[in-house]
Amino acid sequence: MRNAMQLMLAASVLALAVPAWAQTAPDHPSITVGGQTYTPLSIVTRNMGTKEDQTTALGPFHVIGNIYYVGTRTLSSYLIVTPQGNILVDSTYERNVPTIAKSVAKLGFKFSDIKILLGNHAHADHQEGDALVKQMTGAQVVAMEDDIPALQFMTPEGKEHPLDRIIHDGDKVTLGGTTLTAHLTAGHTRGCTSWTTTASENGKTYNVLIGCSLRAPAVIAPGTQAEFERSFKYVRTLPCEVQLGDHGSQFNLLEKYARLKAGGPNPFIDPKNCFHEADIEEAMFKAILAEQQKRD
Ligand SMILES: [Zn+2]
Repeated sequence: MRNAMQLMLAASVLALAVPAWAQTAPDHPSITVGGQTYTPLSIVTRNMGTKEDQTTALGPFHVIGNIYYVGTRTLSSYLIVTPQGNILVDSTYERNVPTIAKSVAKLGFKFSDIKILLGNHAHADHQEGDALVKQMTGAQVVAMEDDIPALQFMTPEGKEHPLDRIIHDGDKVTLGGTTLTAHLTAGHTRGCTSWTTTASENGKTYNVLIGCSLRAPAVIAPGTQAEFERSFKYVRTLPCEVQLGDHGSQFNLLEKYARLKAGGPNPFIDPKNCFHEADIEEAMFKAILAEQQKRD
C-alpha cells in the first residue's frame, strides 16, 4: 500500500515536471529521416530549446543581401533593410521585443525605421509581440486572412492584436525595391505563411524562403489533413537557395552561424537542404496519420 502511494506521488511529481503540451501528447510515433530519429516531443524540444534559449539574443548578424538575423537562439526574427525603411518578420514573444530592438540597434539600424511587420503564424512564440512592435514603430501590420481569428486571441497585457493589411496566398509586400511574396502553407495554423524573396551577394541573386512551420498536431482532423497535404506539395514548388524559418532548428541555424563566424563561403546558401525540414515534418505527419487510422 505504502509503495503504491509512493509510486502515485512520484508519478504526480513527474507529471508536474513535464510541460502541458507533453502531457496531452504521448511521445510517439518515432520516425527516422537522414539517419536522425525524431519524436513529437523531440521536435518541439529542438524547436523551443530552454527558456533561456527562447529569450537570449543570437548575434545579431548579417544573413545575406539585405537580410539580418535579430532573433533569439531558438525563435527567429528577421530584419530586411531597404532605402525606404525596414521590414521585420516575426516579433516573437512580447517579452523579447526589447531584445529584438537592441539587436536592431546593435546592427546600426533604427527600430523606429521598421515600416512593415510580417508574421510567420499565429502562435505566441512568433507573433505575441506584434502589438508592442506596432506601438514602438507605427509599422503597418500585415496578416494572412486565415490566421486573423487566431491572432485576435493574442492580447498580451490586454493589448488588441493590430491589423492594417489583410493578405491572401500569392499577395506581395513591397518596400524600397524589396518584394516578399506570401504563400499560404496551412496546417500548423490556418494561415501559416511562407515568405519568398530574393537577396544579392557578390553579384549573384539567391532565392530566399522563410518557411512556415509544418509541424503536425498530436491529433490530425480531416480539414487539417487536407491543408497539410496541399502544403507539403506546395512548399516544394517554392524557389529556394537560402532556407530560413520560424525556429532555427528547422535550418540548422546554430551550426550555420558558427560557420559564418569562422569565415569562408556563406553557409546560409544551402539549396540541397531547403526541404529537409519538410521531409522530417511530412514523415511525422504520415506516421501520426497511420497511428490514427489504426485506432479508428
Ligand atoms: Zn507554432
